[in-house]
Amino acid sequence: MAVNIILPPSSLSLWNTKKLIYSTQIRFRIMSLASKSQPQSVASSAVYQVPGLDSHEMDSTADKTFERYLSNTAKRNGKGVSIFWFRNDLRVLDNEALFKAWVSSQAVLPVYCIDPRLFQTTYYFGFPKTGALRAQFINECLADLKKNLMKKGLNLLIQHGKPEDILPSLTKAFGAHTVYAHKETCSEELQVERSVARGLRQVVLSTAQGNSSRSSSTHSPKLQLIWGSTLYHLDDIPFSVGSLPDVYTQFRKSVEAKCTIRGCIRLPTSLGPPPSVDDWGIIPSVEQLGLHSEKVVKGMRFLGGETAALSRVTEYFWNKDLLKIYKETRNEMLGPDYSTKFSPWLASGSLSPRFMYEEVKRYEKERQANDSTYWVLFELIWRDYFRFISIKYGNSLFHLGGPRKVEKRWHQDQKMFETWRNGCTGYPLIDANMKELSASGFMSNRGRQIVCSFLVRDMGIDWRMGAEWFETCLLDYDPCSNYGNWTYGAGVGNDPREDRYFSIPKQAKTYDPDGEHVAFWVPELLPLPKEKRNFPGKSYIEQVVPLKFGSSNKHHSQRSKYGGRHSGLGNR
Ligand code: FAD
Repeated sequence: MAVNIILPPSSLSLWNTKKLIYSTQIRFRIMSLASKSQPQSVASSAVYQVPGLDSHEMDSTADKTFERYLSNTAKRNGKGVSIFWFRNDLRVLDNEALFKAWVSSQAVLPVYCIDPRLFQTTYYFGFPKTGALRAQFINECLADLKKNLMKKGLNLLIQHGKPEDILPSLTKAFGAHTVYAHKETCSEELQVERSVARGLRQVVLSTAQGNSSRSSSTHSPKLQLIWGSTLYHLDDIPFSVGSLPDVYTQFRKSVEAKCTIRGCIRLPTSLGPPPSVDDWGIIPSVEQLGLHSEKVVKGMRFLGGETAALSRVTEYFWNKDLLKIYKETRNEMLGPDYSTKFSPWLASGSLSPRFMYEEVKRYEKERQANDSTYWVLFELIWRDYFRFISIKYGNSLFHLGGPRKVEKRWHQDQKMFETWRNGCTGYPLIDANMKELSASGFMSNRGRQIVCSFLVRDMGIDWRMGAEWFETCLLDYDPCSNYGNWTYGAGVGNDPREDRYFSIPKQAKTYDPDGEHVAFWVPELLPLPKEKRNFPGKSYIEQVVPLKFGSSNKHHSQRSKYGGRHSGLGNR
Protein backbone atom coordinates (compact mmCIF):
# COMPACT_ATOMS: atom_id res chain seq x y z
CA MET A 1 0.00 0.00 0.00
CA ALA A 2 1.27 3.51 -0.76
CA VAL A 3 0.67 6.36 1.65
CA ASN A 4 1.41 10.04 1.16
CA ILE A 5 2.94 11.80 4.12
CA ILE A 6 2.82 15.59 4.07
CA LEU A 7 5.88 17.31 5.47
CA PRO A 8 6.98 20.93 5.79
CA PRO A 9 9.50 21.94 3.12
CA SER A 10 13.14 21.55 3.93
CA SER A 11 16.11 23.11 2.19
CA LEU A 12 18.91 20.91 3.49
CA SER A 13 19.38 17.52 1.95
CA LEU A 14 21.05 14.66 3.81
CA TRP A 15 24.02 14.94 1.53
CA ASN A 16 24.67 18.56 2.40
CA THR A 17 24.57 17.58 6.03
CA LYS A 18 27.19 14.93 5.34
CA LYS A 19 29.46 17.41 3.58
CA LEU A 20 29.32 19.63 6.64
CA ILE A 21 30.24 16.69 8.85
CA TYR A 22 33.45 15.89 7.06
CA SER A 23 34.61 19.40 6.34
CA THR A 24 35.92 20.11 9.83
CA GLN A 25 38.55 17.45 10.08
CA ILE A 26 41.65 19.10 11.54
CA ARG A 27 43.87 17.34 14.01
CA PHE A 28 46.43 18.80 16.39
CA ARG A 29 48.66 17.33 19.02
CA ILE A 30 47.67 18.63 22.43
CA MET A 31 51.21 19.19 23.63
CA SER A 32 52.03 21.55 20.80
CA LEU A 33 48.97 23.65 21.59
CA ALA A 34 50.15 24.37 25.09
CA SER A 35 53.64 25.29 23.97
CA LYS A 36 54.50 28.96 24.37
CA SER A 37 56.06 29.04 20.95
CA GLN A 38 52.72 28.16 19.39
CA PRO A 39 50.95 31.21 17.97
CA GLN A 40 47.64 31.95 19.67
CA SER A 41 45.74 31.80 16.39
CA VAL A 42 46.60 28.11 16.09
CA ALA A 43 45.38 27.34 19.59
CA SER A 44 42.14 29.16 19.04
CA SER A 45 41.31 27.37 15.80
CA ALA A 46 42.08 23.78 16.82
CA VAL A 47 39.24 21.35 16.20
CA TYR A 48 39.49 17.68 17.08
CA GLN A 49 37.05 15.58 15.15
CA VAL A 50 35.74 12.71 17.29
CA PRO A 51 36.25 10.08 16.01
CA GLY A 52 39.32 11.07 14.03
CA LEU A 53 38.74 8.55 11.22
CA ASP A 54 37.82 9.58 7.69
CA SER A 55 34.43 8.72 6.22
CA HIS A 56 35.72 5.70 4.32
CA GLU A 57 37.36 4.21 7.44
CA MET A 58 34.20 4.82 9.43
CA ASP A 59 31.91 3.17 6.89
CA SER A 60 34.13 0.14 6.67
CA THR A 61 34.38 -0.10 10.50
CA ALA A 62 30.60 0.00 10.80
CA ASP A 63 30.09 -2.55 8.02
CA LYS A 64 32.55 -4.96 9.62
CA THR A 65 30.88 -4.57 13.00
CA PHE A 66 27.41 -5.17 11.56
CA GLU A 67 28.76 -8.28 9.89
CA ARG A 68 30.07 -9.65 13.20
CA TYR A 69 26.60 -9.21 14.66
CA LEU A 70 24.62 -10.93 11.93
CA SER A 71 22.19 -13.69 12.74
CA ASN A 72 21.63 -16.52 10.29
CA THR A 73 18.95 -18.13 12.38
CA ALA A 74 16.58 -15.25 13.19
CA LYS A 75 13.12 -15.95 11.80
CA ARG A 76 10.11 -13.71 11.53
CA ASN A 77 6.76 -15.27 12.22
CA GLY A 78 4.35 -12.34 12.30
CA LYS A 79 1.79 -10.92 9.94
CA GLY A 80 0.91 -7.47 8.67
CA VAL A 81 2.73 -4.26 9.46
CA SER A 82 4.39 -3.14 12.68
CA ILE A 83 5.78 0.31 13.40
CA PHE A 84 9.07 0.93 15.07
CA TRP A 85 9.13 4.27 16.87
CA PHE A 86 12.72 5.50 17.26
CA ARG A 87 13.33 7.58 20.38
CA ASN A 88 16.69 7.72 22.21
CA ASP A 89 17.78 4.49 20.55
CA LEU A 90 19.10 5.74 17.21
CA ARG A 91 20.92 2.56 16.23
CA VAL A 92 20.53 -0.68 14.35
CA LEU A 93 22.98 -2.83 16.29
CA ASP A 94 21.62 -4.42 19.49
CA ASN A 95 18.22 -2.82 19.01
CA GLU A 96 15.91 -5.29 20.66
CA ALA A 97 12.68 -3.41 20.03
CA LEU A 98 13.48 -3.12 16.32
CA PHE A 99 14.18 -6.84 16.22
CA LYS A 100 10.84 -7.57 17.89
CA ALA A 101 9.04 -5.32 15.43
CA TRP A 102 10.65 -7.28 12.59
CA VAL A 103 9.85 -10.71 14.07
CA SER A 104 6.21 -9.82 14.67
CA SER A 105 5.39 -8.59 11.17
CA GLN A 106 5.82 -8.97 7.44
CA ALA A 107 6.86 -5.32 7.07
CA VAL A 108 8.31 -2.83 9.58
CA LEU A 109 7.85 0.90 9.25
CA PRO A 110 10.63 2.76 11.13
CA VAL A 111 9.54 6.23 12.24
CA TYR A 112 11.18 9.16 14.00
CA CYS A 113 9.03 12.05 15.20
CA ILE A 114 10.61 15.49 15.47
CA ASP A 115 8.70 16.54 18.56
CA PRO A 116 8.26 20.35 18.79
CA ARG A 117 8.29 20.13 22.60
CA LEU A 118 12.01 19.31 22.44
CA PHE A 119 12.60 22.75 20.97
CA GLN A 120 10.69 24.71 23.57
CA THR A 121 12.25 25.80 26.86
CA THR A 122 13.53 24.12 30.01
CA TYR A 123 11.09 23.63 32.87
CA TYR A 124 11.97 26.34 35.44
CA PHE A 125 14.37 28.81 33.87
CA GLY A 126 13.34 29.01 30.24
CA PHE A 127 16.61 28.09 28.52
CA PRO A 128 16.36 26.44 25.10
CA LYS A 129 15.49 22.81 25.74
CA THR A 130 17.80 21.64 22.97
CA GLY A 131 20.82 23.71 22.02
CA ALA A 132 21.93 24.04 18.38
CA LEU A 133 24.93 21.74 18.76
CA ARG A 134 22.84 18.86 20.14
CA ALA A 135 20.20 19.47 17.46
CA GLN A 136 22.93 19.20 14.82
CA PHE A 137 24.30 16.04 16.47
CA ILE A 138 20.85 14.41 16.51
CA ASN A 139 20.29 15.39 12.87
CA GLU A 140 23.51 13.60 12.01
CA CYS A 141 22.37 10.58 14.03
CA LEU A 142 19.16 10.51 11.99
CA ALA A 143 20.96 10.83 8.65
CA ASP A 144 23.25 7.96 9.60
CA LEU A 145 20.41 5.85 10.95
CA LYS A 146 18.54 6.26 7.68
CA LYS A 147 21.65 5.19 5.78
CA ASN A 148 22.18 2.11 7.97
CA LEU A 149 18.51 1.14 7.85
CA MET A 150 18.64 1.36 4.06
CA LYS A 151 21.62 -1.01 4.08
CA LYS A 152 19.32 -3.39 5.94
CA GLY A 153 16.55 -3.07 3.38
CA LEU A 154 14.50 -0.55 5.37
CA ASN A 155 14.25 3.25 5.50
CA LEU A 156 13.39 5.92 8.06
CA LEU A 157 10.20 7.93 7.94
CA ILE A 158 10.85 11.41 9.34
CA GLN A 159 7.74 13.10 10.69
CA HIS A 160 7.31 16.51 12.30
CA GLY A 161 4.94 16.61 15.24
CA LYS A 162 4.00 14.92 18.48
CA PRO A 163 4.29 11.14 18.57
CA GLU A 164 0.80 10.92 20.06
CA ASP A 165 -0.59 12.64 16.94
CA ILE A 166 1.61 10.92 14.37
CA LEU A 167 1.70 7.30 15.52
CA PRO A 168 -2.06 6.70 15.74
CA SER A 169 -2.59 8.13 12.27
CA LEU A 170 0.24 6.02 10.86
CA THR A 171 -1.17 2.86 12.44
CA LYS A 172 -4.47 3.68 10.81
CA ALA A 173 -2.96 4.46 7.41
CA PHE A 174 -0.85 1.30 7.38
CA GLY A 175 -3.16 -0.94 9.39
CA ALA A 176 -0.24 -1.57 11.75
CA HIS A 177 -1.05 -3.94 14.61
CA THR A 178 1.69 -2.76 16.99
CA VAL A 179 3.98 0.15 17.69
CA TYR A 180 7.28 -0.99 19.19
CA ALA A 181 9.55 1.38 21.09
CA HIS A 182 12.06 1.47 23.90
CA LYS A 183 10.86 2.33 27.38
CA GLU A 184 11.90 5.60 29.00
CA THR A 185 11.85 6.48 32.70
CA CYS A 186 11.43 10.25 33.25
CA SER A 187 8.16 12.11 33.48
CA GLU A 188 8.15 13.99 30.16
CA GLU A 189 8.93 10.83 28.22
CA LEU A 190 6.43 8.79 30.26
CA GLN A 191 3.77 11.37 29.55
CA VAL A 192 4.40 10.93 25.81
CA GLU A 193 4.17 7.13 26.20
CA ARG A 194 0.81 7.47 27.95
CA SER A 195 -0.50 9.86 25.29
CA VAL A 196 0.61 7.54 22.48
CA ALA A 197 -1.07 4.57 24.18
CA ARG A 198 -4.25 6.63 24.59
CA GLY A 199 -4.13 7.72 20.94
CA LEU A 200 -3.71 4.14 19.77
CA ARG A 201 -6.73 3.04 21.78
CA GLN A 202 -8.84 5.46 19.71
CA VAL A 203 -7.78 3.79 16.46
CA VAL A 204 -10.13 1.12 15.19
CA LEU A 205 -8.71 -1.40 12.75
CA SER A 206 -10.60 -4.20 11.16
CA THR A 207 -9.11 -7.53 12.15
CA ALA A 208 -8.44 -8.47 8.56
CA GLN A 209 -6.21 -5.33 8.33
CA GLY A 210 -4.08 -6.13 11.36
CA ASN A 211 -2.57 -9.14 13.03
CA SER A 212 -5.15 -9.89 15.69
CA SER A 213 -6.13 -13.47 16.28
CA ARG A 214 -9.15 -12.38 18.29
CA SER A 215 -12.53 -13.30 16.97
CA SER A 216 -13.99 -9.76 17.07
CA SER A 217 -13.93 -7.87 13.80
CA THR A 218 -12.17 -4.76 15.08
CA HIS A 219 -9.25 -4.02 17.36
CA SER A 220 -6.84 -1.23 18.27
CA PRO A 221 -3.10 -1.24 17.68
CA LYS A 222 -0.91 -1.85 20.71
CA LEU A 223 2.07 -0.05 22.15
CA GLN A 224 4.86 -2.47 23.10
CA LEU A 225 7.55 -0.86 25.22
CA ILE A 226 10.82 -2.75 25.56
CA TRP A 227 13.61 -2.11 28.07
CA GLY A 228 16.85 -1.44 26.22
CA SER A 229 19.00 1.45 27.44
CA THR A 230 21.16 -0.09 30.17
CA LEU A 231 23.96 -2.59 30.60
CA TYR A 232 21.99 -4.63 33.13
CA HIS A 233 18.42 -5.34 32.17
CA LEU A 234 15.80 -3.95 34.54
CA ASP A 235 14.26 -7.41 34.86
CA ASP A 236 17.59 -8.95 35.87
CA ILE A 237 18.66 -6.68 38.74
CA PRO A 238 18.39 -8.35 42.13
CA PHE A 239 16.02 -5.80 43.71
CA SER A 240 12.67 -4.28 42.99
CA VAL A 241 13.22 -0.68 41.90
CA GLY A 242 11.58 0.50 45.12
CA SER A 243 14.26 -1.18 47.19
CA LEU A 244 17.20 -0.11 45.06
CA PRO A 245 20.17 0.66 47.38
CA ASP A 246 20.85 4.36 47.89
CA VAL A 247 24.57 3.76 47.96
CA TYR A 248 26.11 3.14 44.55
CA THR A 249 28.72 0.66 45.78
CA GLN A 250 26.01 -1.58 47.23
CA PHE A 251 24.13 -1.49 43.95
CA ARG A 252 27.25 -2.20 41.89
CA LYS A 253 28.47 -5.05 44.05
CA SER A 254 25.06 -6.74 43.98
CA VAL A 255 24.59 -6.51 40.24
CA GLU A 256 28.15 -7.62 39.57
CA ALA A 257 27.74 -10.63 41.85
CA LYS A 258 24.22 -11.66 40.95
CA CYS A 259 23.43 -10.63 37.37
CA THR A 260 24.70 -11.46 33.95
CA ILE A 261 24.67 -9.01 31.13
CA ARG A 262 22.49 -10.14 28.25
CA GLY A 263 24.17 -10.62 24.88
CA CYS A 264 23.65 -8.12 22.07
CA ILE A 265 20.71 -8.80 19.78
CA ARG A 266 21.84 -10.11 16.40
CA LEU A 267 19.92 -9.07 13.32
CA PRO A 268 19.45 -10.82 9.99
CA THR A 269 21.10 -9.38 6.86
CA SER A 270 17.84 -7.82 5.70
CA LEU A 271 15.06 -6.31 7.78
CA GLY A 272 13.07 -5.38 4.70
CA PRO A 273 10.88 -4.86 2.97
CA PRO A 274 9.33 -1.74 4.47
CA PRO A 275 5.75 -0.90 3.56
CA SER A 276 5.46 1.31 0.52
CA VAL A 277 5.76 5.01 1.38
CA ASP A 278 5.70 7.82 -1.20
CA ASP A 279 7.55 10.41 0.82
CA TRP A 280 9.97 9.38 3.55
CA GLY A 281 10.48 12.98 4.64
CA ILE A 282 13.68 14.86 5.18
CA ILE A 283 15.72 15.86 8.18
CA PRO A 284 15.22 19.56 8.86
CA SER A 285 18.11 21.96 9.16
CA VAL A 286 18.94 23.37 12.58
CA GLU A 287 17.44 26.70 11.45
CA GLN A 288 14.21 24.98 10.48
CA LEU A 289 14.05 23.71 14.05
CA GLY A 290 14.00 27.35 15.14
CA LEU A 291 17.63 27.48 16.29
CA HIS A 292 20.65 29.43 15.12
CA SER A 293 23.08 27.01 13.60
CA GLU A 294 26.46 26.89 15.39
CA LYS A 295 29.73 25.51 14.11
CA VAL A 296 32.39 24.02 16.32
CA VAL A 297 35.47 26.07 15.56
CA LYS A 298 37.45 24.96 18.58
CA GLY A 299 37.68 21.85 20.77
CA MET A 300 35.97 18.57 20.06
CA ARG A 301 33.62 18.20 17.13
CA PHE A 302 31.59 15.03 17.67
CA LEU A 303 30.09 13.35 14.62
CA GLY A 304 26.58 12.08 15.22
CA GLY A 305 25.40 8.60 14.30
CA GLU A 306 25.96 4.91 14.84
CA THR A 307 28.72 4.74 12.21
CA ALA A 308 30.72 7.35 14.12
CA ALA A 309 29.91 5.66 17.46
CA LEU A 310 31.21 2.27 16.32
CA SER A 311 34.23 3.99 14.82
CA ARG A 312 34.98 5.79 18.08
CA VAL A 313 34.90 2.45 19.92
CA THR A 314 37.33 1.01 17.36
CA GLU A 315 39.53 4.07 17.52
CA TYR A 316 39.68 4.26 21.33
CA PHE A 317 39.92 0.54 22.10
CA TRP A 318 41.74 -0.92 19.12
CA ASN A 319 43.53 1.65 16.94
CA LYS A 320 44.87 3.87 19.71
CA ASP A 321 44.90 1.15 22.37
CA LEU A 322 43.77 3.61 25.04
CA LEU A 323 41.50 1.32 27.03
CA LYS A 324 44.41 -0.12 28.99
CA ILE A 325 45.25 3.31 30.47
CA TYR A 326 41.71 4.68 30.91
CA LYS A 327 41.82 4.67 34.71
CA GLU A 328 44.98 6.80 34.78
CA THR A 329 43.81 9.34 32.20
CA ARG A 330 40.07 9.58 32.81
CA ASN A 331 40.30 12.67 35.05
CA GLU A 332 42.14 14.80 32.54
CA MET A 333 40.37 17.58 30.69
CA LEU A 334 41.91 18.32 27.31
CA GLY A 335 41.59 16.53 24.00
CA PRO A 336 39.78 13.46 22.72
CA ASP A 337 41.90 10.72 24.23
CA TYR A 338 41.82 10.97 28.04
CA SER A 339 38.42 9.25 28.23
CA THR A 340 36.21 7.25 25.89
CA LYS A 341 33.92 10.13 24.77
CA PHE A 342 31.19 7.56 24.21
CA SER A 343 28.57 9.55 26.14
CA PRO A 344 26.97 11.54 23.26
CA TRP A 345 26.29 8.30 21.38
CA LEU A 346 25.12 6.48 24.49
CA ALA A 347 22.67 9.29 25.22
CA SER A 348 21.22 9.30 21.70
CA GLY A 349 21.20 5.52 21.74
CA SER A 350 23.54 5.30 18.75
CA LEU A 351 25.74 3.08 20.90
CA SER A 352 24.57 0.16 22.98
CA PRO A 353 26.16 -0.26 26.43
CA ARG A 354 25.98 -4.04 25.93
CA PHE A 355 28.05 -3.68 22.75
CA MET A 356 30.60 -1.68 24.77
CA TYR A 357 30.66 -4.49 27.32
CA GLU A 358 31.28 -7.11 24.64
CA GLU A 359 34.07 -5.00 23.15
CA VAL A 360 35.72 -4.61 26.57
CA LYS A 361 35.59 -8.41 27.03
CA ARG A 362 37.02 -8.96 23.54
CA TYR A 363 39.82 -6.49 24.29
CA GLU A 364 40.56 -8.21 27.60
CA LYS A 365 40.84 -11.52 25.78
CA GLU A 366 42.86 -10.32 22.81
CA ARG A 367 45.01 -7.61 24.42
CA GLN A 368 44.94 -7.35 28.19
CA ALA A 369 42.67 -7.09 31.23
CA ASN A 370 43.57 -4.63 33.99
CA ASP A 371 42.01 -2.06 36.33
CA SER A 372 41.45 0.31 33.42
CA THR A 373 39.51 -2.15 31.28
CA TYR A 374 37.28 -2.86 34.27
CA TRP A 375 36.91 0.82 35.12
CA VAL A 376 35.05 1.69 31.93
CA LEU A 377 32.41 -0.82 32.99
CA PHE A 378 32.46 0.60 36.52
CA GLU A 379 31.55 4.01 35.05
CA LEU A 380 28.94 2.52 32.79
CA ILE A 381 27.26 0.99 35.83
CA TRP A 382 26.93 4.53 37.22
CA ARG A 383 24.90 5.30 34.12
CA ASP A 384 22.65 2.31 34.81
CA TYR A 385 22.35 3.31 38.43
CA PHE A 386 21.08 6.82 37.68
CA ARG A 387 18.58 5.39 35.23
CA PHE A 388 17.18 2.99 37.86
CA ILE A 389 17.27 5.77 40.48
CA SER A 390 15.10 7.88 38.18
CA ILE A 391 12.41 5.22 38.40
CA LYS A 392 12.71 4.94 42.17
CA TYR A 393 12.60 8.67 42.87
CA GLY A 394 10.53 9.97 39.94
CA ASN A 395 10.14 13.71 39.71
CA SER A 396 11.97 14.45 42.95
CA LEU A 397 15.15 14.22 40.87
CA PHE A 398 14.12 17.55 39.35
CA HIS A 399 12.94 19.23 42.57
CA LEU A 400 15.02 21.71 44.55
CA GLY A 401 15.26 19.44 47.61
CA GLY A 402 16.09 16.41 45.44
CA PRO A 403 15.27 12.81 46.37
CA ARG A 404 16.09 13.46 50.05
CA LYS A 405 13.92 16.60 50.16
CA VAL A 406 16.78 18.57 51.66
CA GLU A 407 15.88 22.07 52.79
CA LYS A 408 18.57 24.62 52.00
CA ARG A 409 18.54 28.26 51.03
CA TRP A 410 19.58 28.95 47.47
CA HIS A 411 19.47 32.13 45.44
CA GLN A 412 18.87 32.76 41.76
CA ASP A 413 20.99 35.85 41.15
CA GLN A 414 20.77 36.15 37.37
CA LYS A 415 23.89 38.30 36.94
CA MET A 416 26.03 36.00 38.98
CA PHE A 417 24.63 32.98 37.18
CA GLU A 418 25.53 34.58 33.86
CA THR A 419 29.17 34.96 34.88
CA TRP A 420 29.20 31.20 35.45
CA ARG A 421 27.30 30.37 32.29
CA ASN A 422 29.41 32.64 30.08
CA GLY A 423 32.73 31.66 31.62
CA CYS A 424 33.67 34.99 33.21
CA THR A 425 33.85 34.24 36.91
CA GLY A 426 37.50 35.21 37.22
CA TYR A 427 38.47 31.61 37.98
CA PRO A 428 40.25 30.26 34.87
CA LEU A 429 39.35 26.65 35.63
CA ILE A 430 35.62 27.45 35.78
CA ASP A 431 35.74 29.83 32.83
CA ALA A 432 37.63 27.42 30.59
CA ASN A 433 35.23 24.57 31.30
CA MET A 434 32.14 26.70 30.75
CA LYS A 435 33.54 28.07 27.49
CA GLU A 436 34.25 24.52 26.38
CA LEU A 437 30.66 23.53 27.11
CA SER A 438 29.21 26.40 25.07
CA ALA A 439 31.64 25.98 22.18
CA SER A 440 31.54 22.20 21.82
CA GLY A 441 28.63 20.77 23.82
CA PHE A 442 31.05 18.72 25.90
CA MET A 443 32.88 18.98 29.21
CA SER A 444 35.01 16.38 30.98
CA ASN A 445 33.62 14.58 34.01
CA ARG A 446 36.20 16.34 36.20
CA GLY A 447 35.18 19.71 34.75
CA ARG A 448 31.49 18.99 35.34
CA GLN A 449 32.09 18.18 39.00
CA ILE A 450 34.18 21.31 39.50
CA VAL A 451 31.80 23.79 37.83
CA CYS A 452 28.85 22.19 39.62
CA SER A 453 30.54 22.51 43.00
CA PHE A 454 31.49 26.13 42.27
CA LEU A 455 27.96 27.14 41.25
CA VAL A 456 26.32 25.39 44.14
CA ARG A 457 28.82 25.74 46.98
CA ASP A 458 30.83 28.87 46.21
CA MET A 459 28.08 30.87 44.53
CA GLY A 460 25.17 29.34 46.47
CA ILE A 461 23.03 29.40 43.32
CA ASP A 462 19.98 27.16 42.83
CA TRP A 463 21.50 23.98 41.38
CA ARG A 464 18.61 23.57 38.95
CA MET A 465 19.82 26.63 37.00
CA GLY A 466 23.09 24.82 36.37
CA ALA A 467 21.37 21.54 35.58
CA GLU A 468 19.05 23.23 33.09
CA TRP A 469 21.96 25.00 31.39
CA PHE A 470 23.65 21.61 31.04
CA GLU A 471 20.38 20.28 29.64
CA THR A 472 20.53 22.95 26.92
CA CYS A 473 24.15 22.51 25.98
CA LEU A 474 25.32 18.93 26.51
CA LEU A 475 25.54 16.68 23.47
CA ASP A 476 25.24 13.77 25.89
CA TYR A 477 22.30 15.24 27.83
CA ASP A 478 20.36 12.51 29.49
CA PRO A 479 17.84 13.43 32.21
CA CYS A 480 18.84 10.57 34.50
CA SER A 481 22.60 11.11 34.40
CA ASN A 482 22.36 14.89 34.33
CA TYR A 483 19.90 15.43 37.16
CA GLY A 484 21.29 12.44 39.08
CA ASN A 485 24.79 13.93 39.04
CA TRP A 486 23.55 17.45 39.78
CA THR A 487 21.58 16.30 42.81
CA TYR A 488 24.75 14.61 44.09
CA GLY A 489 26.79 17.74 43.40
CA ALA A 490 24.24 19.88 45.22
CA GLY A 491 24.15 17.51 48.20
CA VAL A 492 20.46 16.70 47.70
CA GLY A 493 20.88 13.34 45.96
CA ASN A 494 19.67 9.97 47.13
CA ASP A 495 23.01 9.18 48.80
CA PRO A 496 23.66 11.53 51.75
CA ARG A 497 27.37 10.68 51.62
CA GLU A 498 27.77 12.20 48.16
CA ASP A 499 28.16 15.76 49.34
CA ARG A 500 31.56 17.01 48.23
CA TYR A 501 33.19 20.40 47.93
CA PHE A 502 35.75 20.78 45.13
CA SER A 503 38.52 23.22 45.94
CA ILE A 504 39.41 25.06 42.75
CA PRO A 505 43.09 25.70 43.55
CA LYS A 506 43.56 22.05 44.48
CA GLN A 507 41.71 20.79 41.42
CA ALA A 508 43.70 23.15 39.16
CA LYS A 509 47.04 22.00 40.59
CA THR A 510 46.11 18.33 40.36
CA TYR A 511 44.29 18.14 37.04
CA ASP A 512 45.65 21.07 35.02
CA PRO A 513 49.11 21.58 36.52
CA ASP A 514 50.56 23.28 33.43
CA GLY A 515 47.43 25.28 32.72
CA GLU A 516 47.05 23.64 29.30
CA HIS A 517 43.28 23.33 29.53
CA VAL A 518 42.74 26.90 30.70
CA ALA A 519 45.18 28.31 28.12
CA PHE A 520 43.37 26.43 25.38
CA TRP A 521 39.96 27.82 26.28
CA VAL A 522 41.03 31.22 27.63
CA PRO A 523 43.79 32.13 25.17
CA GLU A 524 44.74 35.34 26.98
CA LEU A 525 46.28 33.07 29.66
CA LEU A 526 48.54 31.34 27.13
CA PRO A 527 51.45 33.83 27.38
CA LEU A 528 51.60 33.44 31.19
CA PRO A 529 54.08 31.03 32.78
CA LYS A 530 52.44 27.61 33.04
CA GLU A 531 52.16 27.70 36.84
CA LYS A 532 50.40 31.09 36.72
CA ARG A 533 47.74 30.23 34.14
CA ASN A 534 45.35 28.93 36.77
CA PHE A 535 46.40 31.65 39.22
CA PRO A 536 46.77 34.75 37.05
CA GLY A 537 46.08 37.34 39.77
CA LYS A 538 45.50 40.82 38.36
CA SER A 539 46.35 39.79 34.80
CA TYR A 540 42.89 38.23 34.55
CA ILE A 541 39.33 39.41 35.22
CA GLU A 542 38.18 40.01 38.78
CA GLN A 543 36.83 37.05 40.73
CA VAL A 544 33.07 37.22 41.09
CA VAL A 545 32.90 35.55 44.53
CA PRO A 546 35.47 34.41 47.06
CA LEU A 547 35.84 30.67 47.48
CA LYS A 548 33.81 29.21 50.29
CA PHE A 549 36.80 27.65 51.95
CA GLY A 550 39.30 30.28 50.80
CA SER A 551 42.73 29.12 49.81
CA SER A 552 46.15 28.62 51.29
CA ASN A 553 47.77 29.76 48.06
CA LYS A 554 48.66 33.42 47.91
CA HIS A 555 47.68 33.55 44.24
CA HIS A 556 44.05 32.95 45.14
CA SER A 557 43.29 35.64 47.67
CA GLN A 558 41.60 38.17 45.46
CA ARG A 559 38.94 40.67 46.28
CA SER A 560 35.37 39.68 45.46
CA LYS A 561 33.36 41.78 43.06
CA TYR A 562 30.36 41.18 45.31
CA GLY A 563 32.22 42.12 48.48
CA GLY A 564 31.15 39.19 50.61
CA ARG A 565 29.91 35.67 50.55
CA HIS A 566 26.63 35.27 48.79
CA SER A 567 25.50 31.93 50.02
CA GLY A 568 22.77 30.08 51.75
CA LEU A 569 25.32 27.44 52.64
CA GLY A 570 27.08 29.38 55.39
CA ASN A 571 26.37 26.77 58.05
CA ARG A 572 27.93 23.92 56.05
P1 FAD B 1 34.04 8.04 30.35
O1 FAD B 1 34.85 8.51 31.49
O2 FAD B 1 34.77 7.46 29.23
O3 FAD B 1 32.99 6.99 30.92
C1 FAD B 1 32.37 5.99 30.10
C2 FAD B 1 30.87 6.12 30.20
O4 FAD B 1 30.43 5.88 31.53
C3 FAD B 1 30.35 7.50 29.85
O5 FAD B 1 30.23 7.68 28.47
C4 FAD B 1 29.01 7.53 30.59
O6 FAD B 1 28.01 6.90 29.85
C5 FAD B 1 29.30 6.69 31.84
N1 FAD B 1 29.60 7.59 32.96
C6 FAD B 1 30.82 8.02 33.36
N2 FAD B 1 30.70 8.79 34.47
C7 FAD B 1 29.37 8.85 34.74
C8 FAD B 1 28.60 9.50 35.75
N3 FAD B 1 29.16 10.25 36.73
N4 FAD B 1 27.25 9.38 35.70
C9 FAD B 1 26.64 8.63 34.76
N5 FAD B 1 27.33 7.98 33.79
C10 FAD B 1 28.66 8.10 33.79
N6 FAD B 1 26.68 12.02 31.61
C11 FAD B 1 25.81 11.86 30.61
O7 FAD B 1 25.93 10.90 29.84
N7 FAD B 1 24.80 12.76 30.42
C12 FAD B 1 24.64 13.85 31.22
O8 FAD B 1 23.69 14.61 31.02
C13 FAD B 1 25.56 14.03 32.26
N8 FAD B 1 25.49 15.13 33.08
C14 FAD B 1 26.39 15.27 34.10
C15 FAD B 1 26.28 16.37 34.96
C16 FAD B 1 27.18 16.54 36.01
C17 FAD B 1 27.05 17.72 36.95
C18 FAD B 1 28.21 15.61 36.21
C19 FAD B 1 29.19 15.76 37.33
C20 FAD B 1 28.32 14.51 35.37
C21 FAD B 1 27.43 14.32 34.32
N9 FAD B 1 27.51 13.22 33.45
C22 FAD B 1 26.60 13.07 32.45
C23 FAD B 1 28.46 12.12 33.71
C24 FAD B 1 29.84 12.24 33.07
O9 FAD B 1 30.41 13.49 33.31
C25 FAD B 1 29.83 11.96 31.57
O10 FAD B 1 29.13 10.77 31.29
C26 FAD B 1 31.24 11.79 31.03
O11 FAD B 1 32.01 12.92 31.32
C27 FAD B 1 31.20 11.54 29.55
O12 FAD B 1 32.50 11.43 29.00
P2 FAD B 1 33.06 10.04 28.52
O13 FAD B 1 32.07 9.36 27.66
O14 FAD B 1 34.40 10.26 27.97
O15 FAD B 1 33.13 9.25 29.90
